[in-house]
Amino acid sequence: MIDFALEPELVALRDRVRAFIRDVAIPAERRDRSAHGLDDTLRRELQDAARRAGVFAPQVAEELGGLGLDMRAAAIVFEEAGYSLLGPQAMNCAAPDEGNMHLLEVVATPEQRERYLIPLTAGAVRSCFAMTEPAPGAGSDPSMLVTRAERVDGGWSITGRKWFITGADGAAFAICMARAPEGATMFLVDAGNPGMRIERVIGAVDRSFPGGHAEVVFDDCRVAGDAVLGDVGQGFHFAQVRLAPARLTHCMRWLGVARRALDHALHRASEREAFGQRLGDLGMVQERIAQSVIDIETSRLLIWRCAWALDRGEPARHESSVAKAHVAEAVGRVVDRAVQICGSLGVSEDLPLARLLAEVRPFRIYDGPTEAHHWAIARRALRNRGR
Ligand SMILES: Cc1cc2nc3c(=O)[nH]c(=O)nc-3n(C[C@H](O)[C@H](O)[C@H](O)COP(=O)(O)OP(=O)(O)OC[C@H]3O[C@@H](n4cnc5c(N)ncnc54)[C@H](O)[C@@H]3O)c2cc1C
Repeated sequence: MIDFALEPELVALRDRVRAFIRDVAIPAERRDRSAHGLDDTLRRELQDAARRAGVFAPQVAEELGGLGLDMRAAAIVFEEAGYSLLGPQAMNCAAPDEGNMHLLEVVATPEQRERYLIPLTAGAVRSCFAMTEPAPGAGSDPSMLVTRAERVDGGWSITGRKWFITGADGAAFAICMARAPEGATMFLVDAGNPGMRIERVIGAVDRSFPGGHAEVVFDDCRVAGDAVLGDVGQGFHFAQVRLAPARLTHCMRWLGVARRALDHALHRASEREAFGQRLGDLGMVQERIAQSVIDIETSRLLIWRCAWALDRGEPARHESSVAKAHVAEAVGRVVDRAVQICGSLGVSEDLPLARLLAEVRPFRIYDGPTEAHHWAIARRALRNRGR
């Protein structure tokens, strides 16, 4: 049975989030001037407001203080949250923390939950996920992982270099993927560990993630045996727990950005006149608007389908690949068309569109570049031909 009707409680929550974004997050945007994401003061202020509005940590289990939404409900709420770049951070459902919370909820030991998950879900700390390495290390191809973990007295020594690690600067801990003799393994590394240092924050086109994207060096970084997250040698297996849902929640939030961009384009197309008519009366502008509506609606349907598969406990690798590849490109197109429809205003700082264009661009690269997903989708299709 296919049913797109939303339960009344979910509609009420969606409307509450919509109001929070309109009344709190969007007005706060003019105060968001720091180079990398919200500064801590504004972040805390917005998180307090989100708690008061009853929209804090929607994806987190109720016993941990969240709203306990499944992926289908999260799709509705995260899209609303994403309408402002500040929404997901205010609601404590932004990357990379949200993906790390999910991973910790599924994989962490009771002690690890206490030490890492609880402060993270409360918004008291930030975290990062350290997988990608400069060449010749892991990028699109995770099997190229070169960071090493060796057993030493009392635990492990990790050595390697990671880069583009979102939020590493200022994070309370990192989840670091390294190659142990038994295979890839995830380790929890506390900030302040003398063996882990932030070498630099890399200048990049976007600036909405607190801490930016850092190059992080692990130099004989010593951690205790209980720092292993999941099992030794099972890092890639456990990374799958994080990967598909985290990819999908990115799609949900960026879909909100696409809607915001289209709304600006619609407003401008309705008001601005040229050649004796409104821009919105011109066929080529209408075509751009129609393509954007189609991009948004197809994105939403693919997200919902994948969310449904994840809620059923399926790995949803195919569904998340299709959704990610489509949504990343579609959202980029929608924002770019909105800029074009708005003309010079579109590239100005008077509207958020130029900023949004910069923010969405990297999504075609992280969580698997579009080409890597297309490659995987095509290989799967060829393997399954005739079935
Ligand atoms: C803003 C941002 C934030 C990030 N945050 C994190 C983070 O928090 N933690 C983390 O671990 N990593 C993070 N990353 C890294 C991200 O996951 C990698 O950039 C991504 O996996 C691609 O790896 P790469 O950059 O090494 O590109 P490469 O692997 O060198 O690929 C380069 C290009 O080759 C092409 N390509 C790749 N595979 C294929 C294929 N199969 N077929 C055809 N063409 C292909 C694509 O065009 C791709 O863009 C972040 C990246 C960015 C840009």
